[in-house]
Amino acid sequence: MAVDPVCGMDVDEKTAQWKSEYKGKTYYFCAPGCKASFEKDPEKYLHGGDHHEHHGHH
Ligand SMILES: [Zn+2]
Repeated sequence: MAVDPVCGMDVDEKTAQWKSEYKGKTYYFCAPGCKASFEKDPEKYLHGGDHHEHHGHH
């Protein structure tokens, strides 16, 4: 089982219809909406949500 990084749901890699590759790793999603959210701002979901420690923007 993989975990949908957006909503935290378990997703079976074998049957997952929505997946996305980011930085060489494949992520699985339960729904197209989750995939879209992830692709819009992957870092947000990979760092466990609301960490306001991102100073990199101009
Ligand atoms: Zn989801």
